[in-house]
Amino acid sequence: PEDARYLISRIRTIAGFPEKGINFRDIMPVFADQRGLSILMDALVASLPVAPDDFDAVAGLEARGFLFGPTLANRLDKGFIAVRKAGKLPPPVRSQSYALEYGTATVEIEESAIRVGERVLVVDDLIATGGSASAARDLVIACGGKVAGFSFVMELEGLAGIAKLGGYPASALLTMP
Ligand code: 5GP
Repeated sequence: PEDARYLISRIRTIAGFPEKGINFRDIMPVFADQRGLSILMDALVASLPVAPDDFDAVAGLEARGFLFGPTLANRLDKGFIAVRKAGKLPPPVRSQSYALEYGTATVEIEESAIRVGERVLVVDDLIATGGSASAARDLVIACGGKVAGFSFVMELEGLAGIAKLGGYPASALLTMP
């Protein structure tokens, strides 16, 4: 509880960013802080929705999933797979588009990054609607991998993002109003 309080105290909330009406949860101060980062990594490992033996690799979403995904993977002796925004990775890639409130976004994985049957844990800093994480799930499957589960630092209350992922094991360290 004291660790959780400390972690929450490091998360900064910015009203009206990046757009009017959005309460942006800024996780960067957690990474900047030695104690915050240490608590975060320990808590993430402890909160995983599946046992380390039940997955082979960690896939992180650009950009904040890149900040802790490789560290988490390394702690558990797994590899790391980058889920990037469209146009950044060299071919051959798999692409998946998904709907945003206005318009669409596309994410990509290098085809060779996932072996057939590989069990992948998908990680990101925050789940809101679940659109990004669902796109990552579809990419893992399109590459021949299996989704082992999802791990998030924050979940936004009221959006039921986790419920939209398709019943896979999933956990969020913190639920934010
Ligand atoms: P979703 O696709 O679930 O609607 O949105 C989640 C994605 O948007 C994640 O990749 C996450 O990093 C980003 N995101 C949305 N809102 C916030 C926020 O308040 N704080 C942070 N750090 N990321 C956000």
